[in-house]
Amino acid sequence: MTSVTLHGAVGEIGGNKILIEDGDTKLFFDFGLSFGKYGDFFSPYLQPRRHSIISDYMNLGLLPNLTGLYRQDYENRFRESSPEPKYDGVVLSHPHLDHAGFLSYVRPDIPAYCSTGCKAILQVFEESSYGFHEYTRIKESFKIRESKRDATKKVKDRSSVIPREVNIFKPTFKIDDITIHPFPVDHSVPGANSFVIETSEGSIVYTGDIRFHGRRANFSQFFVEKAASFDPDIIISEGTNVHEPKTYGELDLQHDLFSVIENVRGLIIVNFPVRDTDRMRSFIEAAKHTDRSLVVSMRQAYTLKTLEENGVSQVPRLDEVKIFVPKKGWGVLNDMNYPMEIQMQDYQSWENQFIGHDNTVTADEINNHPDQYIFRCDFAELKYLFDIKPPEESIYIRSVTEPVDEEMELDQKKVDNWLKYFGLYPYTQLHCSGHASGYDIQEMVRQINPKKVMPVHTERPTEFSSFHGDVILKGLGEKYNLS
Ligand SMILES: [Zn+2]
Ligand SMILES: [Zn+2]
Repeated sequence: MTSVTLHGAVGEIGGNKILIEDGDTKLFFDFGLSFGKYGDFFSPYLQPRRHSIISDYMNLGLLPNLTGLYRQDYENRFRESSPEPKYDGVVLSHPHLDHAGFLSYVRPDIPAYCSTGCKAILQVFEESSYGFHEYTRIKESFKIRESKRDATKKVKDRSSVIPREVNIFKPTFKIDDITIHPFPVDHSVPGANSFVIETSEGSIVYTGDIRFHGRRANFSQFFVEKAASFDPDIIISEGTNVHEPKTYGELDLQHDLFSVIENVRGLIIVNFPVRDTDRMRSFIEAAKHTDRSLVVSMRQAYTLKTLEENGVSQVPRLDEVKIFVPKKGWGVLNDMNYPMEIQMQDYQSWENQFIGHDNTVTADEINNHPDQYIFRCDFAELKYLFDIKPPEESIYIRSVTEPVDEEMELDQKKVDNWLKYFGLYPYTQLHCSGHASGYDIQEMVRQINPKKVMPVHTERPTEFSSFHGDVILKGLGEKYNLS
């Protein structure tokens, strides 16, 4: 008996948690956070309680109520955790949090499977991001030990780390009775894959997030051709933009970018998604075209360095960009009245490697030569514009998605205020989506020619009925049997 159960991404964009069962084999494809549901209940000032996070998330429909799945240190806080895992693995399509973010709650004796690029990005999250990121190294909670200073006293023990087995994709691999063929595809983050999944009762295609208008559209097309050759029973397809006829592509964007910046004499300031290395490539090319250098944040530099160390190809190299080191904390960077070790204390340990790195630039250097740089500046970095002091004839390019909810609109109002203050308003909007257009989804489904279509990651699942006669619309947690 083979079945598919959607434990997320039903009628919403993201939160993918797709359970495929074949006999005794139980695999999750993605285990992501639903930003929509999360935002319905939580905000920066109303954070979940750590000790009961799994049961609270279950109550709110953010996590499925399943046993033998969750990490035991947390599950034991609200119910007895089963001694053995009941799932055989979590296969990740890519490292966006709406697909991978809730792996942190999955017990470490359930292995993960992903691409090299995906693993590298998850490591960057673990080592350099705020929030709860425990994908490859699970830090056991709620343990106590004797104090080293006074053996009669107990202290909280945070030293125990359980590693998770993270298996890098092979071109074809088996997990018990299920055979998986991952295919690298085009999306807005390194390491994205779509899959053909062979079960005892037929083949299932799962797209993850995919597009056909980025720098590696040929990868997506190759996947479509291969997937068609399996004569699949079902395609589980993303449909973020299923209602959009055609989409503006990454190379169109790069072309337009050249003409926007060609005659700019001041500083070019831009915001683009932190981990979208293909968008970064567009800005590197634009910088070369205008004899400038692209300046990225330390977090982006750390991402490039980690991707490089993991041998991930087709991403920008660290020596193609400059790294912005802002004044933080006490603001004593390069102040000789303060010894180096005090200067370093303003930075996190992962940031220290970039202090004094060959490629670094400071606000003063950008201020002295604004015509030599394209400065990438996200929401949290706007405050550094006080140090950079963008001169007249500077511009701001917004290269991220349009606000889609109230919270994003409020943030954009704040950005607008900063831009007005620094004389950078109005700005130029240049962005292209990480997701296939409706036309491309339709074309993909037509070419793969599955018997049935199961829409996920879309607010408009019924739109699929306009181009396929057999669309499966199951509710959250409802099992669909293949036979
Ligand atoms: Zn997604
Ligand atoms: Zn994605």
